[in-house]
Formats: sequence, structure tokens, C-alpha cells
Amino acid sequence: MSLNSQDMLEAMDGIALLIDPDLVVRHIGWSHWTDFWKKNGGDSDPVGVVGRDITEFFSEGEVRDVYRTLFLDVAKKARHAVKINYRCDSPVLRRSMRLTVTAVQTGARTEYLLYQSMTLEVEQRPAIPLFGAPTGTSGPDIVKVCAVCAKVQWPTGGSAAGTEWIEPQDYYRRGGADVVVLSHGFCGPCQKILLSEDE
Ligand SMILES: [Zn+2]
Repeated sequence: MSLNSQDMLEAMDGIALLIDPDLVVRHIGWSHWTDFWKKNGGDSDPVGVVGRDITEFFSEGEVRDVYRTLFLDVAKKARHAVKINYRCDSPVLRRSMRLTVTAVQTGARTEYLLYQSMTLEVEQRPAIPLFGAPTGTSGPDIVKVCAVCAKVQWPTGGSAAGTEWIEPQDYYRRGGADVVVLSHGFCGPCQKILLSEDE
């Protein structure tokens, strides 16, 4: 790149990272990252990101595996980009985000992936405690939430057969339990969008 990569990252909207073709974070736009951390309730210093595999920050299981495959596909030019609008809610905030991952080429070689995560919209709404539940991948009280649209698989309990995906606010209307463990996955339509080449 002709532009200093650090300057470029600082100038970009949202959280901007350069990750290497093995998906290890090499550079980060610090100002936005620090802002994001503070806004989202981090009391301590922002967590260190440089030197870590980007997929560590994704929910373990299906979500991490699918994003890892997609990012590696961008790195080896098997796909052009990953572009997805997704929800990242807290109990009282409906947060719409956009993720884009594109290759930064030096000649024919992929030097980095540019990873950019932007907040599009944040709305306050009546609390949905479900979004504050601890996460895990197994157990009797598992509730699966789509990592893209935030819909909840219903009935809960893990198996995909005969289930539907409902709006998170309908979870409690249908008598969903208060004490649960969250696991993230993808509903059918979101999986299709995520895997499609041109979003
Ligand atoms: Zn979905």
C-alpha cells in the first residue's frame, strides 16, 4: 500500500483491522477501537487484539467455523469479499452492524485482509435479557440465536428439525425460560446471504 497502513486504519469508519492471510491481526485503528470499547462498557483497558487470531472473537462453533472459511476464501481469492449486515444486540440495545472483509493485494499476493466493522444504528428498546445470557455450546438450557439477524430458534433445545426462527421479543411471549445459555448459529436465510458471492 502506498498509504501508511496505520494512518489509513485510523481514518476509516468503525473498527478497522489488517489481518494477515492466516487471520492473525497485525494492525488496528486504535482510536475507534478504544472508543468502541469504552462505549460498550469496558472498564479496563481495551483488550489486546494485535497478534491474535481474528476468529477467536467469534462465537465458538458454527459461527467461528463459517467465518473462518469465508475469510480464508477471501485470502486465497476464492471469493471476492465478505459483506454482511448483522445484529449485535445487548439486553437494552438493538445494534445494527456491518462487516466487510476484503483483500489487500501486493501484486498477485494477498498481503492483508482489511476487516472493517461499522455500527450502522443503535436503538434503545425494552430489555430482552436473553442477550445478556452467558454463552456456551452445549447443555440442557441452550438457546440458539442467529448471529446475523438475532432471531431465536424455537422451540429451544438444539435440534434443528421442526424448528422455526422467531423474533427475540417473541421468545418471552412464548414462555421462553429466563435462565439459559446462548449459542450462536445461522438461520437458513442468513446462511444463504452470508455464503452468496454478491450480497
Ligand atoms: Zn438469521
